[in-house]
Amino acid sequence: MTRLARALCSLHGAVLAWLAYCAMQSARNGATWAVLLFAAASLMTVIAVIRETELTDERRTAAVRAERVARLRAHAEEDVAALARIELAAACCEPWWTSAGTDHDPACPNSQRSSAA
Ligand SMILES: [Zn+2]
Repeated sequence: MTRLARALCSLHGAVLAWLAYCAMQSARNGATWAVLLFAAASLMTVIAVIRETELTDERRTAAVRAERVARLRAHAEEDVAALARIELAAACCEPWWTSAGTDHDPACPNSQRSSAA
């Protein structure tokens, strides 16, 4: 929970306490309509705290999801780089690479082997 959310929840708690006090005073004075009004208003503060915690949970979930996506993307890039390194390591010589494995450079040690075969 962020500092702002914590401050808002504390403020809502203070308002809830104040509304409860007002409801009690209204009940002592016999103003039933005011008691109902203060009780309904105090419910709004409870709803606000619930909403604030929901928002915090959603923000945390979104952050975790974004971190997972970034991690997967980094792994995919590593996989592509590893595959490219393997392909480059398996390459023989430049003519072999450009001719899709049919020709070799005359200086290539595999040029004798492929022409003998
Ligand atoms: Zn070669």
